Amino acid sequence: MLRRLVILGPPGGGKGTLAARLAGRLGVPHISTGDMLRNEVAGSSLLGRRAHDYMNAGRLVPNELVTEITNRRLTEPDAGDGWILDGFPRNLTQARALDDALAGLGPQAVVVLEVPDKEVVIRIGGRLTCPRGHVYNLTRSPPRAPGICDIDGEQLHQREDAAHDVVLERIAIYKRATTPVFDYYYNEGLLYRVDGMGAPDEVYGRVIKVLENP
Ligand code: ADP
Repeated sequence: MLRRLVILGPPGGGKGTLAARLAGRLGVPHISTGDMLRNEVAGSSLLGRRAHDYMNAGRLVPNELVTEITNRRLTEPDAGDGWILDGFPRNLTQARALDDALAGLGPQAVVVLEVPDKEVVIRIGGRLTCPRGHVYNLTRSPPRAPGICDIDGEQLHQREDAAHDVVLERIAIYKRATTPVFDYYYNEGLLYRVDGMGAPDEVYGRVIKVLENP
């Protein structure tokens, strides 16, 4: 199967869940720019301090910061044989920067998870995350014990950018900045649109089907 994949989709669209599963199956790293940025913020690095306000407002962090951490991560040894990129590129400048950085070893397929706005609002509003990145939803996939991660027992919390107005801003920015990236990859023959509604297993099954017969 293909080993260099980009997952695109709206906020709350299920990119992270899908990317983690694909990475496990393929034995390649799951590279999430959102997770990397949140780590930088948690560690109060210079980059994290610069990124924090953009993230809390639901806006895109400046391209040069995100491109820098993504390029750094992609050159680590474990990414030599493939990767699943989740949350990057989010605009045309980033898509071009990725192609430049990878010089011929760019994505082999780009999967767009299609999820309507209404569903996005439900998913993010009830989303709970554990410090290790496991994700739950109060209505769709609640944890067995309230507020506690099933997998590692850590306390769950809501992300800082889950407030309703911030979610609407994230959706608006996705439409404005990220959807033009679809055409970019469509023109390269790499774009696959997949229905992102339904249980994570169903979505995963659809994506595997597409990737096995691209
Ligand atoms: P979601 O897709 O659910 O919004 P992410 O965890 O992917 O969540 O991203 C969270 C935030 O991190 C974004 O709202 C944005 O501020 C920042 N971010 C992540 N990836 C990028 C990127 N490629 N370019 C700019 N900002 C980014």
